[in-house]
Amino acid sequence: MQKLIDKAKIEHTLSKSEIIAILKDNSINDYLFKTADEIRKNYTGDEVYLRALIEFSNICRCDCKYCGIRRDNKNVSRYRLEKDEILKLADFAVQSGYKTIVLQSGEDMFFSAEYLAEIIKEIKQNDVAVTLSIGERTFEEYKILKDAGADRFLLRIETTDENLYGQMHPQMSLANRKQCLFNLKKLGYETGTGSLVGLPGQTLESLADDILFYKELDADMIGIGPLIVHPETPLKDEKNGDLILAIKVLALTRLLLPDINIPATTAMETLHREGRIWALKAGANVIMPNVTFENCKKNYEIYPNKVSVDYESLKTDLAKIGRTISSKKGFRGNPDNSGRFNSSPAGRGKLTRCKNTEKEYDSFGS
Ligand code: SAM
Repeated sequence: MQKLIDKAKIEHTLSKSEIIAILKDNSINDYLFKTADEIRKNYTGDEVYLRALIEFSNICRCDCKYCGIRRDNKNVSRYRLEKDEILKLADFAVQSGYKTIVLQSGEDMFFSAEYLAEIIKEIKQNDVAVTLSIGERTFEEYKILKDAGADRFLLRIETTDENLYGQMHPQMSLANRKQCLFNLKKLGYETGTGSLVGLPGQTLESLADDILFYKELDADMIGIGPLIVHPETPLKDEKNGDLILAIKVLALTRLLLPDINIPATTAMETLHREGRIWALKAGANVIMPNVTFENCKKNYEIYPNKVSVDYESLKTDLAKIGRTISSKKGFRGNPDNSGRFNSSPAGRGKLTRCKNTEKEYDSFGS
C-alpha cells in the first residue's frame, strides 16, 4: 500500500481500485496523511489562506435531505441580508485584512444575477477576491456574475452516485449539477467542488468516483465535509459521517491534485476539537472564518453546534504545526503578495445586525 501512495506522490494518478484499496486500509492512514502533508508543503507552502465567509441568506428553494436550512424545515427563522448589510460585512472583512470574501447563501432567487452583480462590483472596488457559493444557476447568470468580477465559485457535487444523489436532492439532478460545474470552469471561475462524506448508503466505491470526478473537472478547490446529522431533517436518525474517512478523502485529493486549495472545513472541527488541525496536517491549506452578523450565524444552521474560529487561538494552533496565516489572495498555483493581515480581525468589535424576513420567505422561499 505504501508503494501505491509513493506512486501517487510522484505521478498524481491512482485508479479507482487503488483509491478504494487505500480507503479500506486504515493501517496506512499515518503514511497517507504524512505524504499528503509533504505534497501540500511542496506545492502550496506553509501559509494558510483565510477566506471570510458571509452567509447572506438562509432562504432556500432546495430540499436537500441532510440540510438544516432545507425548504421544508419550518422551524428555521429565515433571514435575508440587504445590500448595505452585505457590504458592511464585506468592508469589515476587508478592514480586518481578509483577501477573499465568500458570499454564501441558500438558493434564494430573490438575489437575481443582476442584483448580485451590483454587490460584487462594489466589493471588488477593494483589492480582494470574491468567491460565490449560491447554488445552481444558468450559464447566462454565471456569466453575469463573472463579468461583474467574481473570481471563484464553490458548488459541491456532494456525491457522484446518481441514485444516492437523487435520493438526497429532491427535484435536482446529478447531470445538472455537473453541467453547472463545467459551465463555471468554461467561464473561467476558479471552481470548487467537493463531497459530503457519510451520506446514508454511500460506498467507498462512490467516494473513489468522487475523487476521480474532481480530477476530471480539474477542480481548483475541494471542500470535503463529514455529514453532521441535523435533528430537523429526514436524516435525523442517521449517524454522523466518519471524520477519519473524510480526512482520508481529503488526503487522497491532495495526492491527485497537488496544487489546489483545500479547506479544513468547519464540519471537521465540529465533529472533533482537533479535526481542523488534523485536516491541515493531511493536505488542507485553507480556513474559512465566518464573519456573518452574530445573530444571523445561529439561523444559518445547516448542521447543529457549528463551531466558529477564534483568530488568536487559530494563530497559536497554526504556529504549533509550523504554519502561518497568509496575507495573499491565494489563487491556485499563482500566489500574489498584496496586502497584509491585521493582527486581530476578531478584535474589531462584534457586528450584530440581522433582519428577520420570515414574511418575505413565505413569498420567495420556494
Ligand atoms: N446553496 C449553496 C450550494 O448548494 O452550494 C451553498 C449553501 S449549502 C448550505 C453549503 C454546503 O453545506 C453544501 O454543499 C453541503 O455539503 C453542506 N451541508 C449542508 N448540510 C450539511 C450537514 N448536515 N452536514 C454537513 N454539511 C452540510
